[in-house]
Formats: sequence, structure tokens, C-alpha cells
Amino acid sequence: MAVIAGNWKMHMGPVETTAFFEALRLEGVPSRHELLLFPPAISLLAAARAPSRDRRIQLGVQNIHWEDQGAFTGEVSAGMAAGAGATFVLIGHSERRHVFGESDQEVALKVGAAQRNGLVPVICVGETLDERRAGRVEEVILRQLDAVLPTCGTGGSRFLIAYEPVWAIGTGETATPGDASAAHATLRTRLEGALGISAATRVPLLYGGSVKPGNAAELMAAAEVDGVLVGGASLDPKSFAEIASAGG
Ligand code: PEP
Repeated sequence: MAVIAGNWKMHMGPVETTAFFEALRLEGVPSRHELLLFPPAISLLAAARAPSRDRRIQLGVQNIHWEDQGAFTGEVSAGMAAGAGATFVLIGHSERRHVFGESDQEVALKVGAAQRNGLVPVICVGETLDERRAGRVEEVILRQLDAVLPTCGTGGSRFLIAYEPVWAIGTGETATPGDASAAHATLRTRLEGALGISAATRVPLLYGGSVKPGNAAELMAAAEVDGVLVGGASLDPKSFAEIASAGG
């Protein structure tokens, strides 16, 4: 069973969210995979309550603050997201890191807040095009992983890692299955060193970056790829349903 996750980014208000689940119901959710959707925080409650949502589709929030409450205007805490129906949270998405300047340290604090509040973190790592051209893929993704391992590697709570090369996000450029496998193998080896082989095997490694119905099966079949994180193509119920049924 793979994990198929959809990140809606800043698309889909509450009304569109309810309509999405009705359209998805009509498409059918043929998947035997674990399905996660990350609507905007303001649409979580609509997603949680959508009469047409197949209850096998779990929900997450796209970002949280690292504190549980306080004077942080505009922010959402892990506990609030959980109260609105989230069971997962995306942390360290490249748009958070590169557009909003989120540091490795902040990412680690958010992972701690997620786990303290019972949310499962999906921690995103990935290199920029310049870093890839400079041969720094391993260095960058291991630095990002090492920043969170002291937090999420202890205590045995579930977490997922999404390898999302920044140059492949929203660009139509996709990493080859070989690129994805190589990065995932690097991450898996580090996880094995930190957690031991059996715990490391249980951490799903997702690939993200311009996944579409036409390439999802091939990427999901690649070695060490346990699922996909889908941005743009998850906004369309038909293409999300197609990706959700890819790979069996
Ligand atoms: C994402 O937002 O995580 C993503 C991978 O986007 P896209 O599929 O649109 O490249």
C-alpha cells in the first residue's frame, strides 16, 4: 500500500472543497492506497464535514506554528488543526522554506509541535536547481533530515518524509524514477543509521514534483518510493482519482 497525498496549496475555499468531494465521489475512489489531502486551513472543517468525503481519505493541514497558542496573528496551531479535522501536517514544504524563509530549526520546532498534539508530520526535503547543478543533493537533503531526526526520531511516533526537488515543483519538470530512487536511498540509509533498520523501513518516503496521472505509476514503482505528494494535479478530482488508483 502506497501513500498518495494531495497538497492544495492556496486553492479551494470551503465551498469549492465541499464540491471537490462530491466530484471525487462521482469519479469513484478506487484506491487501495492510503489517501491524504491537505486543504488550506480555512477549508479543513468543510473537508472534515463534507457529506461526500470517503472517510478513508484522511486530512492534513499545510503548515502549523510551533507554539500551541499565543500572540501570533494569522497563525494556526497544531491543536487547532487537529480540532478542525487534521490528522497529518505538511512541514517544511519548499514554498515555506524558500518563499517564507523557514529555517531547518523552525521546521524541527514544528515537527515537535505536531507530535505533541498528535498530528503525523509529513516532512518535506529537497534541493534547488543550483544545489543539484553543484552536486549538492545529498548534502542538502541530509542536512534537512538531520535537523528533524532528534525530534521525530525519538519516541516512536509516526512520521513521513517527502523528497521534493524544488526545481520539479509546479514546473512540469519531473525527477526521473532513477533520480527519485537515488535520493530516497540516501534518506533511507540515514534513517537506518539513526533509527535502526526495522523502524527506518516503516517511514514512508514520498516523491513530489509534477506528479500527474501519466507519470504516477512509474514513479511509484521506483525503488524506495513509497508514495507521492501531488500539488497541482490533486486539485482536479479526476486526475487525483487517477493518481490514487495508479500502481494497483
Ligand atoms: C507540491 O506542492 O508539493 C508539489 C509537488 O506540487 P506539484 O505537483 O504541482 O509540482
